[in-house]
Amino acid sequence: MEKPRIDQETCITCRACVGICPVEALKQFRREIVVDYDACTGCKICGKFCSAGAITFGSFDGAPVPEKKAIKTPSHLDKSFDIVIVGGGIAGLSTAIGALQSKQNLDILVIERKRVIGEDSNSSAGTWHFTLDMLPLTDSEKDEIILQKFTKLGLANEHDDVVIDNNGYYLGAIDLQRLLVILFRKVQKLGGQIEVNSFVESVERFDGGFEIGVVSKGEVYKISSKLIVDATGVDSTVSRRLGMHKSWGVEEIGVGAEYEMSWHGDSQTAWLIPLGYRNLGYAWVFPIGNNLARVGVAGPLQTLKKHKMNIQEELDKFLKYCAIVKENIGEDYSILAFKSGAYPVLEMSEDITRDQALRVGDSASQANPLLGEGIYYCINYGLKAGEALAKSNSGSEEDLEPYKAFVLKNKEKFETDKLGFGMDTDKVIENLQKNLDKLSERERQVLLEFLMPVEQDWKTRIRLSKKLLGTKETLKLFGSEIKKRL
Ligand SMILES: Cc1cc2nc3c(=O)[nH]c(=O)nc-3n(C[C@H](O)[C@H](O)[C@H](O)COP(=O)(O)OP(=O)(O)OC[C@H]3O[C@@H](n4cnc5c(N)ncnc54)[C@H](O)[C@@H]3O)c2cc1C
Repeated sequence: MEKPRIDQETCITCRACVGICPVEALKQFRREIVVDYDACTGCKICGKFCSAGAITFGSFDGAPVPEKKAIKTPSHLDKSFDIVIVGGGIAGLSTAIGALQSKQNLDILVIERKRVIGEDSNSSAGTWHFTLDMLPLTDSEKDEIILQKFTKLGLANEHDDVVIDNNGYYLGAIDLQRLLVILFRKVQKLGGQIEVNSFVESVERFDGGFEIGVVSKGEVYKISSKLIVDATGVDSTVSRRLGMHKSWGVEEIGVGAEYEMSWHGDSQTAWLIPLGYRNLGYAWVFPIGNNLARVGVAGPLQTLKKHKMNIQEELDKFLKYCAIVKENIGEDYSILAFKSGAYPVLEMSEDITRDQALRVGDSASQANPLLGEGIYYCINYGLKAGEALAKSNSGSEEDLEPYKAFVLKNKEKFETDKLGFGMDTDKVIENLQKNLDKLSERERQVLLEFLMPVEQDWKTRIRLSKKLLGTKETLKLFGSEIKKRL
């Protein structure tokens, strides 16, 4: 079996391979990417995503890979499940909740490869104030999950900044791992089963359902199910096995990296900072209380690849780029954690249901393509997917249609609301307008830069600018741009 070798001289540590590896066999150790040959299954997907051409494949000559031992399916899994959900992230657990809330006594199994639900989440976990309301959570559970409520939006460029008061809680930083653990318990309470430390390596259609090959602690066994859900995130394991998805193209993936670090600024202001200067996407600062914040940058893999950029180095540069960030992290800042990962930047997939199989969350590219924000969509679409599955008799296209229709209905809105204010763009603009008179010229400039970080998205910028500043100002601002493109 051929496995990856990494040429450390060529590697630029963009970490796309780390984010994309379905078995987490690639890890960063200091500034190098290392391969865990025991975990590697030789799927070669990392090679495709290497932004520097540093990965080659050869026959494996390290320690012998332990043979996987085929065993009889453990008795608690030895039945035909109504629904198997592959992936115990936010999309998978929301789907399980949606199904179990709609129909009792469903035989549902969630299979997760991690040892612990929520372990090593790479998300910054900033999400809208209404996101958690979609889930069956008590107020005290929400209090446990929300780390910080934001009432202000800060926008900045290198020297200037502007803070817009939203007059209320609009966005929050949450503890995603805590949320996943709470959902895990709810799924169990509602009668669902969850198997952790279990990796789905194969999926085959079999006798009106699916035969799913699971590897757990070196043993392999089969599980059968009538319906299957791909909630494996960017890995899209199930969709690839079933031919619903070919695997991502380099232009369809973004890479983000963030530090959890010291922050002395106001904790109620979330910062969003365009990285137009590097032609990357956005940087963000989400304070999480206790003088800490999640500070991150993200951009298209294609850009990183083209300019041989290292995402962690971009993050380090960003800390020194922006006056407001430099000021608030202080001279002798400390970094508590580093995370990074890949996210889909493609428009939402329309091929989300096929003969008893369904895709949800990042696996179906249900994330905001500009900001990579996906938690809201994972929950919203996951709940709907679960409901459609629970009500389905056969998992036919017709049965799963309500889920598909719901997602596609939102698709158009989602695509015009690329700035990530989801359903609330109008409200945010309304708030900005109230503050506009009070802004100086320089602050307005910051606002406008915020609207134009992504070159190809000029239509959205013009639309938002017209709403925000009116036609006259927009013409002044974009006149030459419009002429150029006519
Ligand atoms: C750096 C970064 C920052 C982000 N910040 C934000 C943010 O601030 N706000 C926001 O809304 N979104 C953010 N996102 C996006 C958000 O985190 C994702 O949209 C969301 O987590 C996707 O959830 P998911 O359940 O679809 O996939 P995942 O969270 O990837 O979960 C998939 C699960 O499936 C498991 N799995 C995969 N393959 C298999 C297999 N073969 N067998 C068994 N299990 C398997 C994985 O272990 C994983 O637990 C960020 C993303 C990144 C990379």
